Amino acid sequence: MKRSIIWFRNDLRLHDNEALVDALKHSDEVIPVYVFDDRIFKSHTSFGFKKTGVHRAKFIIESIKDLKASLQALGSDLIIRTGITEEVIPQLARQCKTHYVYCNRERTQEEVDVQDVLEKSLWSIGQEMRYYRGKMLYYTADLPFPITHCPDQFTTFRKEVERFVSIRQPFEAPNEPFQSLSIDVEVGDIPTLKDFGFDDVPEASLMNGGERAALKELQYYLWETDHIAKYKQTRNQLLGRDYSSKLSAYLSHGCLSPKYVYQEVKRYEEERVKNDSTYWLIFELMWRDFFRFMAKKHGNKIFFKKGIKGKLEFQLYDNEVLFDKWALGKTGIPFIDANMRELNATGFMSNRGRQNVASFLVKDMRLNWIMGAEYFESLLIDYDPCSNYGNWNYVAGVGTDPRPNRYFNIPTQVKKYDADAKYIKHWLPELQNTPLEYIINPFKYNGNALNGVNYPQPCVHVKNW
Ligand SMILES: Cc1cc2nc3c(=O)[nH]c(=O)nc-3n(C[C@H](O)[C@H](O)[C@H](O)COP(=O)(O)OP(=O)(O)OC[C@H]3O[C@@H](n4cnc5c(N)ncnc54)[C@H](O)[C@@H]3O)c2cc1C
Repeated sequence: MKRSIIWFRNDLRLHDNEALVDALKHSDEVIPVYVFDDRIFKSHTSFGFKKTGVHRAKFIIESIKDLKASLQALGSDLIIRTGITEEVIPQLARQCKTHYVYCNRERTQEEVDVQDVLEKSLWSIGQEMRYYRGKMLYYTADLPFPITHCPDQFTTFRKEVERFVSIRQPFEAPNEPFQSLSIDVEVGDIPTLKDFGFDDVPEASLMNGGERAALKELQYYLWETDHIAKYKQTRNQLLGRDYSSKLSAYLSHGCLSPKYVYQEVKRYEEERVKNDSTYWLIFELMWRDFFRFMAKKHGNKIFFKKGIKGKLEFQLYDNEVLFDKWALGKTGIPFIDANMRELNATGFMSNRGRQNVASFLVKDMRLNWIMGAEYFESLLIDYDPCSNYGNWNYVAGVGTDPRPNRYFNIPTQVKKYDADAKYIKHWLPELQNTPLEYIINPFKYNGNALNGVNYPQPCVHVKNW
């Protein structure tokens, strides 16, 4: 009798879950487990932000509830534990007399440390880890180059993989009931937001967690609304649900498989329309893979101030007073503040917004980009270490961006992407009657635009605007 644990991590789904498929294939009994690890849910980043903010905590709790319900529908269940993963899983493994722990492998240091210590601990009780890959479009083994030779430029990477690699078929979700636990073990309760120190439950979120919600979102964006067919034209917009897919959180927590998204886009192209936009969604998923390969190739450099490049072009400061103005949306630069207030209120910000607030923090405020990246890590529903730190490296000019000194001129960006300030006024209603010229560029406006308006003066002066 072979009994195994399937340890769910950032792969909170039944479809295209290779670790689950193999666990079921090679075991008579499979015990699904999720651990709310204290280091993820109860600790802080180096600059003191909660490691997992309320929006992401809520999303993960919802995803776990959904996964549990799906497993129960198959006659199984999801065992819940809180604490330190490397302690609670071996305890459970001993108690249940399992043989193997199946999981999908992670690539960044904190996650690798956990899986390494867990593996050693399992060896000491005669059990083994079995690793699988569940995160990406492309498998490392399929790449036409060794990971150490992965091109540092996205375009070269993309052209090579597009030319030489086919994306594998996703695995089907199990549809047969599987052997439920034959021994008595406590199932454990799913913690609440209060357990993680959050008193206020966020108001209706943009996204609800879970595999079923993820599949519905994909269905909505492709088949129900055909929004994907104009994605390339809308993707840089800022306001509303439909300008981009809003799949990122589902992909980050593994409620949705990128290979499944790919398969659905291909089906859409065959059955409805194939154009630049349908291709562009896959193109963006390749960015996601690219940052993961960069993290694998360059290791912990992505988390260091000097980044992958190992060099800062100019001094960056840890000025907490200025940083707080950025984080709270009180810089006095309306476009930056609108984006930061959206992030604080919802846990989400558009890609255009992220590029601008990150560039402003580094290039105009001259603040340490790690503070910004950690703040994003805390707040974003879709936080993923490779995508977050990879993008911050890129915008801060310490990554693999081939263009030197890339700079986002904020007034130019507003004129291009929010010319009538609809987005800005949505998040800064106090500027409803403020002249547009001031909103676009406070430094070019001579009058007294803020007379009686409760909005701060700019906290830095940017000469080249
Ligand atoms: C400073 C900064 C930090 C970021 N941090 C994260 C993060 O922690 N997690 C995260 O998922 N994305 C991150 N992004 C990338 C991007 O902003 C989001 O993936 C995107 O805005 C999510 O919205 P969407 O799902 O509607 O994207 P869409 O535009 O619909 O794109 C489809 C999918 O492609 C992927 N994708 C798109 N753009 C990127 C990109 N630049 N890098 C990597 N993947 C991409 C995402 O999985 C996304 O869901 C960051 C970008 C910047 C500039």
